[in-house]
Amino acid sequence: MPNFTLTDAVFQQAAERYPTPFHLYDEKGIRERARRLNRAFAWCADFREYFAVKALPNPSILRILKEENCGLDCSSATELTLAAACGFSGDRVILSANAMPPEEFRQARALGAFINLDDYSDIETLRTHGGIPACVCLRYNPGGEFLIGNAIMGNPGEAKYGFTLPQLREGLDRLKALGAESFGLHAFLSSNTRDDSYFPALAELLLELGKKLEAEKGLRFAFVDLSGGVGIPYRPEEKETNIEAVGEGVRRAYEKICPGGGVAVKTELGRWMTGPCGWLVTHAVHEKKIYRDYIGVDACAVNLMRPAMYGAYHHISVCGKRDWPEDHLYDVTGSLCENNDKFAINRNLPEIVPGDLLVIHDTGAHGSAMGYNYNGRLRSAEILYTTGGDYRMIRRAERPEDYFATLDIDPAAGALGL
Ligand SMILES: *Cc1c(COP(=O)(O)O)cnc(C)c1O
Repeated sequence: MPNFTLTDAVFQQAAERYPTPFHLYDEKGIRERARRLNRAFAWCADFREYFAVKALPNPSILRILKEENCGLDCSSATELTLAAACGFSGDRVILSANAMPPEEFRQARALGAFINLDDYSDIETLRTHGGIPACVCLRYNPGGEFLIGNAIMGNPGEAKYGFTLPQLREGLDRLKALGAESFGLHAFLSSNTRDDSYFPALAELLLELGKKLEAEKGLRFAFVDLSGGVGIPYRPEEKETNIEAVGEGVRRAYEKICPGGGVAVKTELGRWMTGPCGWLVTHAVHEKKIYRDYIGVDACAVNLMRPAMYGAYHHISVCGKRDWPEDHLYDVTGSLCENNDKFAINRNLPEIVPGDLLVIHDTGAHGSAMGYNYNGRLRSAEILYTTGGDYRMIRRAERPEDYFATLDIDPAAGALGL
């Protein structure tokens, strides 16, 4: 079920200090998850989590994860800049390329980051933009459907990412000719999966392939990168991924295929690391009864896009009413002129009146980060609830001048109607 560890008082106090809407993140929870992951993989001396920056690109959060021995997975120049500004050294950064502007390879090489190539053509681009490093990672796409037993875990055949197997073979030949000495293998075959056997199955696939290619090509197989995709329970009836069982399953695959060790294990979790440790806090500002009952809130899809974009479920609590019967049927909506701007559809909730404080759960990954400016709406603030129990604003809310900064107009003149 969703994360209910923070009491309503925490959200209410935050809302007394900062205008809603805002995302609130729990530092203690984030540190605990990082430590759990590191413990689950402690059997591997050379394990590291490279947090997927895109999930929560806030420097305060990234620095917390740095203290917890994590690195970063970046996929743009801006994310690389963020990593460097937060003091991550090159060995703590992976660039996961995909249709990259070539200059971004140069930037990643200057930082000394690991480079994860997405396509055969990237080899030439990397050669001419920063050069081929001693160790290169290749992203594998096995095509077809990714099955565990009879269950379809993903559809790599329809995904834009990675090398086919023949391309991997050709790519390694080419990289060897260009002076590379070792390689890593990466794949991301299933998203938001709470199945404990996903990472073990992926590890088995990549480790077996890596060992085979190592023997074939005479290049050292240096690491396996299991990437992201481990899921979290967004719905009350869903159960949590057992990360300890995931680590143990990967260990079994590893010891079977690499009994002598020597291959490092990397992950790039985003959602699992921070997803449950964020909440979007918003006031009910409006009630409307037509063919359905609508509760309008001061947040909208620009603050959390997942429901509008994917129809994703996010649990909603009403502060001070957690024990009330959920006997009212509502659509909870934002203010965009877009009918999919709904945080909940036909949801049973306690009776809500304007002024109530609502908490939308599990917004700590792919939440604020996917923010945008449709309808001239502005991105909200991000607040850290610290381990010491304090509140710290770690991103201010956007102001109208931020919106106008990329335009050649004078908003003050506009306000006067000139
Ligand atoms: C998005 C992404 C991740 C993180 O995915 P989660 O589902 O948040 O775990 C990791 N690696 C790459 C390359 C990604 O694109």
